[in-house]
Amino acid sequence: MEELAPIEWYSRLDSDAIGRVEERRNRVSAENDMSARKPYVIKGETGDWELVMGLEVHAQVSSNAKLFSGASTAFGADPNCNVSLVDAAMPGMLPVINRYCVEQAIRTGLGLKAQINTYSRFDRKNYFYPDLPQGYQISQFAHPIVGEGEIEVDVEPAHGGDAYAFSCRIERLHLEQDAGKSIHDMDPSSTYVDLNRSGVALMEIVSMPDIRTPAEAAAYVKKLRAIVIALGTCDGDMDKGNLRADVNVSVCRPGQYEKFRETGDFSHLGTRCELKNMNSFRFIQQAIEYEARRQIEILEDGGSIDQETRLFDPVKVETRSMRSKEDAHDYRYFPDPDLLPLEVEQAWIEEIRATLPELPDEKRARFETDYGLSRYDAGVLSADAEKASFFEEVAKGRDPKLAANWVTQELFGYLNKQDIELADSPVSASSLGGLIELIANDTISGKIAKDVFARMIEGEGEAADIVEKHGLKQVTDTGAIEKVVDEIIAANPEQVAQIKEKPKTMGWFVGQVMKASGGKANPKAVNDILKAKLGL
Ligand code: ADP
Ligand code: MG
Repeated sequence: MEELAPIEWYSRLDSDAIGRVEERRNRVSAENDMSARKPYVIKGETGDWELVMGLEVHAQVSSNAKLFSGASTAFGADPNCNVSLVDAAMPGMLPVINRYCVEQAIRTGLGLKAQINTYSRFDRKNYFYPDLPQGYQISQFAHPIVGEGEIEVDVEPAHGGDAYAFSCRIERLHLEQDAGKSIHDMDPSSTYVDLNRSGVALMEIVSMPDIRTPAEAAAYVKKLRAIVIALGTCDGDMDKGNLRADVNVSVCRPGQYEKFRETGDFSHLGTRCELKNMNSFRFIQQAIEYEARRQIEILEDGGSIDQETRLFDPVKVETRSMRSKEDAHDYRYFPDPDLLPLEVEQAWIEEIRATLPELPDEKRARFETDYGLSRYDAGVLSADAEKASFFEEVAKGRDPKLAANWVTQELFGYLNKQDIELADSPVSASSLGGLIELIANDTISGKIAKDVFARMIEGEGEAADIVEKHGLKQVTDTGAIEKVVDEIIAANPEQVAQIKEKPKTMGWFVGQVMKASGGKANPKAVNDILKAKLGL
C-alpha cells in the first residue's frame, strides 16, 4: 500500500468523455479473417437471423488486500469479518490505492496486447443497493487504465465443423470495486448483507461485439481465463465467482454484422440484452441460445427488444428480466474527489513487461514448431499451464506426437470421463512417458498399450513391469508370425480364393492372425507377411 496521497480537490468533469468512449468503439481495427468462421444461423419464420455478442468479464485481482483498503480478501471468512472502515463506507474514510492491484491490471493489459494508459482516473458510479454502503462504486469510466487490445480465440464448434481461431478485439480494461453480497436465502423474511467482498479489486474486461456463436463466447472466456491464470493476475476460479461474464446478446439479419465491421456504426446491430454474472461455460452457451430465440420471437411478432439486464435460470434453462438497463448518464459518473488521477511511469510498465511469463498463444506456437504438433493439439495442451507442463514432461526425449496423442486422448479422455483433476491423475507424467517409450521402441503395439494403460490406472505399477509380468511383449519374430499365418491360410481356403476380387478380406486375415497371437503380433509384420503369402 502506498502512503496516503495528498488530497487535491479537482473537478475536471469530462464533458466529452462519453463521446470519446463512442469514438474508440467506432474505430475499426484490422479485419478478422471471417472466411474460416461459419455464421450461426437461426431460421425464423421471416427468414434467417444471426447473433452478435460482446462480453464484459469481471476478473477478481489476485491480491491479499482490497483495492482501496488493507482488509483481507480471503475467501470463506465469516460474514462481515473482512471489512475495514473504508469498505463499510464510514463517513470521512479515505480510499488509498493498492499499488499491487494497479500492477496486476497493467500486467493483464500487457497480456491482452493492449495499450496501457499512463494516465487513468477513478470515477464514482452512483447507484443504490443495500450491499453498496457507499452509494456508489469506484470505477473507471472515461479514462480506463488499459485501452484497446485483442485476444486470439480458439474455437471448436459445438455442432461439428473444423476448429478455427478468430481475433476478438478488446475495448478496454478498467479497475473497479466489487460490491457486497445480499443473502436472501438464510431467512424467509429478511435479507442479510455480507460486506466481505465490498471493495475487492475487480478488473472489468470489455470486448467489442466480435463474438458470433455460443461456442465462440465460451471459447473467449476460456482463453481470457487461461491468460489471466498464466499471468497470475486472477485465479480464474469461476465456482467462487472470481471470474464471471456478463454476456450481451443481440440478433440481426445476415450481412448486418459485416456492415457494422465496415463502418463501425453500431446502429447496424440489434438492441442487446445483458445476461448477468455467468460463471459456467455450459450455462453461457445455453443462455445465449435461449436468449437469441426469445429475441427473434419478439421481433418476428412485430415487437421490439427492450435493452435490459437478464438473469439465466439454469434449472428452467431460460432467462428472465432483472432490471431495465441504465445508460451511462443514469449513473451520474464523476471523478472521485478522494482519489488523484493515476499516473504511472512508462519505466514501471516496461519493468512489468519484462516479467511476463510465456502466454498460452506463445506456448502454442512453440509447441507447434518445437514438437511438430497440429494447431489444435498445441492449443489444447497450451491452454492450461498445468496440462502444458505435464505434456512437456511426458514428451521430454520422446516422440512428441505420440506423447500428445496419449496425453490428450487417452489420459485426458479418461480423466474427463471420471471427472478427475490432472493433479490427481493415477498415472504420472513419467509413468506415461515410460509407456510411450515401449510403444516407440516396438516393445508393445498401440493396442496392447491401451490394456497396459488400463492396468496402470488400476495401480498395477509401471508399464515395463506390467508388460513383463503379463508377457505382453510384441512378437516381432517373423518366423513365429509366419507359422500362424500359414495355419490361418490353410484353414480358410474359401477366403483365400476370394481375396483377389475382395482385397478388403485382408483386414479379416489380419484380425485372425492378431487374435491367434493374443494381440501380441507386430501389426506391421503381420501385414507384410500376409501380403507376401496371399500374393497381394
Ligand atoms: P454497459 O456499461 O452498459 O454494460 P459497456 O459499454 O460497458 O456497456 O459494455 C457493452 C458491452 O456490450 C460490450 O462488450 C459491447 O461489445 C457489447 N455490445 C454493444 N452493443 C452490442 C450489440 N448490439 N449486440 C451485442 N453486444 C453489444
Ligand atoms: Mg459495463
